[in-house]
Parts: sequence; C-alpha cells; structure tokens
Amino acid sequence: MAGPRKPVVEVRRSQRRRRTVSAYRDGERVVVLIPDQFSRAEESEWVDRMLARLAAREGRSVRSDGELLDRASRLIKLYLTEYGTQAVPASVRWVSNQNGRWGSCTPADRSIRLSHRIQEMPDWVIDYVLLHELVHLIVSSHNAQFWALVGRYPKTERARGYLEGVAAVAGTP
Ligand SMILES: [Zn+2]
Repeated sequence: MAGPRKPVVEVRRSQRRRRTVSAYRDGERVVVLIPDQFSRAEESEWVDRMLARLAAREGRSVRSDGELLDRASRLIKLYLTEYGTQAVPASVRWVSNQNGRWGSCTPADRSIRLSHRIQEMPDWVIDYVLLHELVHLIVSSHNAQFWALVGRYPKTERARGYLEGVAAVAGTP
C-alpha cells in the first residue's frame, strides 16, 4: 500500500538564521529554511516537523467558513433543490462553543454553526451534519418530514452511527 506522497523538499541553510526555522510551499516543492549551524540530525528532525506543520495548516484552511458555504450550496442542489432559497443559510461557520452539539441552527437569522470537533472528521460526516442543519431551515422539529428530507442523503444512517460512536468514546451525549 502506498503511503501519503512525500513532497520534494529543498533545504536552504542560512548563516543569518540562528534558531528560527521556516517553511513554505513553492509549486510542487517545499522550501525549508534552517540555520547554517544545524547538524544533519537537526535538519532531518526539523524538516519532518515543518512538513507536519504545513500539512496541518493546509488541512485546516481547506475547511474554512468559505468552504462550508460552498459545501452548503452543493448539498442544497443535490438534496433540497425544490426548496430553493428556503434552504439557503445566511451564514455558515465553524465555532468552538457548541457544548456537546455537532451543529446548530437559528432559523430567525438563518445562521448555521458547526462544532470545530467535527472539523477533522471525514467529508461524508460533515455533509450529514450540515445537511441536518440546512433541513432545520425548512422544518424546525425532528418530525417525519424532517427525517425524510435528511434521509435523501445516502450516508445519513452511517454518519449518525459514526457520531454516536465518537460521542460514546468521549462520554458526551
Ligand atoms: Zn436537529
């Protein structure tokens, strides 16, 4: 099995640098700037560390608030198309104060918030939580109509099971 593709790394040593290390992406390459005095061992340790840091930063930036709004538009088009603007939120954003909830929706101002705790979960789980909140813009309670609309998403049951499992492990409802 192939592991994650390692980028081409170019290490640049600088006599002006003393302790600071930095890294940036330049096309397909990653350039890592290190102090000239670093040993080979330090160099290899810092390259690994900077690659991990870069990957984490890029992973987070992909799932930005702007990306959430694009995701919402795609889900509306796929599953709630006949509701038109009724399903379109005014805002969708990541928040860190959800108190045990994965997502929430305020129909009065049409705002949707998703917990940062699901930010690193698989796409199909985030899609379920987001669709769930979008449907709340149409149906406020968890009635039969609500679940019929959410159930249009083929992975609804799987995503609910996934989240129940995570909650059980974390000891939260
Ligand atoms: Zn709900």
